[in-house]
Amino acid sequence: MTLTEMRAVLAKRNLQLTKSLGQNFLHDGNQLRRIADAAGLTKTDKVLEIGPGLGPLTELLLARAGEVFAIEKDGRLVEFLQEHFGLKSGSPEGSAEPAEGEVLVEEDERAAFGLLHDDALVFIKREQRDWTDWKLVANLPYSVASPILVELAQSHGCPQRLVATLQLEVAKRLMATVKDDDYGVLTLLVQLRYEARDWFKIPCECFFPVPEVDSACVVLERRAVPLLPEAQHATFEKIVKRAFSQRRKMMLKLLKQDWPVEKLTAAFAELNISPMERGEKLSLEQFVALTKKLFNSG
Ligand code: SAM
Repeated sequence: MTLTEMRAVLAKRNLQLTKSLGQNFLHDGNQLRRIADAAGLTKTDKVLEIGPGLGPLTELLLARAGEVFAIEKDGRLVEFLQEHFGLKSGSPEGSAEPAEGEVLVEEDERAAFGLLHDDALVFIKREQRDWTDWKLVANLPYSVASPILVELAQSHGCPQRLVATLQLEVAKRLMATVKDDDYGVLTLLVQLRYEARDWFKIPCECFFPVPEVDSACVVLERRAVPLLPEAQHATFEKIVKRAFSQRRKMMLKLLKQDWPVEKLTAAFAELNISPMERGEKLSLEQFVALTKKLFNSG
């Protein structure tokens, strides 16, 4: 869908875009293809798309994957998508002509398409689905991008790959290592389950309306070998959140709120971590090692 087509659809339906829903639509064909390429899709893939908007990315996903499940919060867009993708009769009965804006994709080439009108964050939390065989491919609403990614990353069956377009600032946090200023809670909660594989910037002009912030697409791959058993994830999260609750404070002092000091001192010594260390200086691997030591002793 080109920018001209997008503007025409919005004008025809008298659709005013909602800033709070992060409605900055991606209209640049090259960037859309780059995002779909990053997902490495085949006809056996199942794709979760959050916030399909007017469906420019959905079109590519439907052409490349085996199944696409899209969740959109804005009912006006859901109605448009249903007509656009022929989920309800958009063209007159018996008409050979496609409905206005209907996508011309051969039925047998198109992935199975499910479209849900819901708040994706609420849905993911509520349903607790197994996403193990799914890939997330989405240009996320920026206000809820981080909670959605954390929720998916922490879910029992987290998706095999996350290809997410979001604010550049959030992308940097997701890709960060301990040496970076952007390293923090979001980095650790997501990287516990995922390896940061790739990222690329997407210029502001590729969106309509042009957003005030820079954007980037990140690619994260689920770890083949989990760093921790699932039973220890809650302890990892507790340690990480406590360690970053006051960035400038010594981590051992902060953790004293949850664990006996003798236990902490022993664990730090065994792991060769200075008792003076701040959380932001500890690598993911060190947080994992500390979790193993402190698990069950809170
Ligand atoms: N995928 C489209 C594109 O690339 O042009 C639209 C992306 S736009 C950045 C974000 C989309 O997410 C909008 O369509 C918006 O209505 C939808 N949205 C916002 N909050 C949502 C939520 N909590 N759950 C599902 N969709 C949401």
